Amino acid sequence: MSSINQSGWKPEMGSASDSAPATYTGNKALMLEEALIFEIGTAGTTGVDLAEAPKVASRLGNLERHRDIGLPGLSEPETVRHYTRLSRQNYAIDLGFFPLGSCTMKHNPRLNEKVARMAGFADVHPLQPVETVQGALGVIHELAHWLITLTGMKAVAMSPKAGAHGELCGILAIRAALTARGDARSVILCPESAHGTNPATAAFAGYAVENIPATSEGRVDLAALKARLGPDVAGVMITNPNTCGLFERDMRDISDAVHAAGGYVYCDGANFNAIVGRVRPGDLGIDAMHINLHKTFSTPHGGGGPGSGPVVLSAALAPYAPLPFVDKDGDQYQLVEEETAGEHHGSSFGRMVAFHGQMGMFTRALAYIMSHGADGLRQVAEDAVLNANYILRGLEDVLEAPFAHSGPCMHEALFSDNGLADGYSTLDIAKGLIDEGYHPMTVYFPLVVHGAMLIEPTETESKATLHQFIGALRSVAQRAKAGDPSLKSAPKYAPRRRLDETQAARKPVLVWREPEHAVAAE
Ligand SMILES: *Cc1c(COP(=O)(O)O)cnc(C)c1O
Repeated sequence: MSSINQSGWKPEMGSASDSAPATYTGNKALMLEEALIFEIGTAGTTGVDLAEAPKVASRLGNLERHRDIGLPGLSEPETVRHYTRLSRQNYAIDLGFFPLGSCTMKHNPRLNEKVARMAGFADVHPLQPVETVQGALGVIHELAHWLITLTGMKAVAMSPKAGAHGELCGILAIRAALTARGDARSVILCPESAHGTNPATAAFAGYAVENIPATSEGRVDLAALKARLGPDVAGVMITNPNTCGLFERDMRDISDAVHAAGGYVYCDGANFNAIVGRVRPGDLGIDAMHINLHKTFSTPHGGGGPGSGPVVLSAALAPYAPLPFVDKDGDQYQLVEEETAGEHHGSSFGRMVAFHGQMGMFTRALAYIMSHGADGLRQVAEDAVLNANYILRGLEDVLEAPFAHSGPCMHEALFSDNGLADGYSTLDIAKGLIDEGYHPMTVYFPLVVHGAMLIEPTETESKATLHQFIGALRSVAQRAKAGDPSLKSAPKYAPRRRLDETQAARKPVLVWREPEHAVAAE
């Protein structure tokens, strides 16, 4: 098998300190090397037999291709093995603990998968007549009802297809509300600890973005926020619980101050898992908030499935919600595609997507909600917070926890790189964790903490899993504090060793060239 890779690197066959001999194949028992499909496939091979195409007169006016298109071909078993081998080099929530902070990587219950695959849901088409999809519209309507009830808001826009897409929906609703009252405002305020999507959304929608500083406790500086409010501020975007894993205790005061200054409050609800069933954002004065169904409501994400980001809206913003939406008239569900007079969607800002949103995710999320019930959802938040605090307390004597003095955390535990040996960083710890069989935690985010490590265990991990992870991370952290040189070259056991990430980002090699061309080009 070829060990030459045209993207410019060679798989390392192990360093001199490896005790095991290099194998002929490059495979290490069940860990199989896999070349690019271009390196193993040949143009003549195919997994299907197609009849010779009948000759037809070309209508392309001499523009037709005369050379082969050069796609690599594999037989069916070779194809299956290629992709199965690649999939084994990946990490997945079904394989092990995935402590990524701010991502809520929780177990995706199999019941949800079963429900989503039922033909009545899986095989419907968005252009079918509404009389034939009453059940599917009923699912959307029922899920919408749960989301409105859980958040204490007036309305919900179901169509946005991710958290960031939901942010855009909320900001467009805010802009529509301001435009309707003839009040063009130009600035959105975001705290320092904001998720990168928040300022990106505001900028994408045409707003200038200004930072609000954090207090030494890791929360929004209320006095600084109040001082900046004025007639040019369209609104604020605040994550609660925030990305330091802390609840913004001043949320009600923040909302009151922003409203008094004529602005609107957007809440990034990606971390809703920490408070679902315990806190209703509507009670905190929030005007718009997205909910990531792929986080709190356990639908697959991270390469495993499409996201879904419904946006709940206050009475002030409900009239501007996007179309379409599902309404119930007697016992018939309707998909309302046009603006109608009334307090809901009466002055809709338009559409976010062609159809009604991610049907498969709605089905899974509703199955999750109904299998937990209201009391079960409250327990989700409680257990997620308990697990995060277990991690915080299990590590704070080896890793600095900068906000641990301000009390328990919410759903995620935050550490800094303070106290590691000279020349050792968060990156070394993350790479060391790969050798221990874990996907690394979120690193270098939030920016308010030096060398941040953000760990979100979620409620679906057992005490035994948390124990093993804490043990592994303690061991790696102690190696980083002692300056263990072998940690600098971790990961040692992953299919690829430490990559030059800067080079990969600055000079990505996106095109594969046949070796002779590659040589000629050099
Ligand atoms: C995940 C996340 C987002 C973005 O959600 P996507 O569905 O990935 O677009 C926004 N804000 C916070 C705090 C998040 O954790």
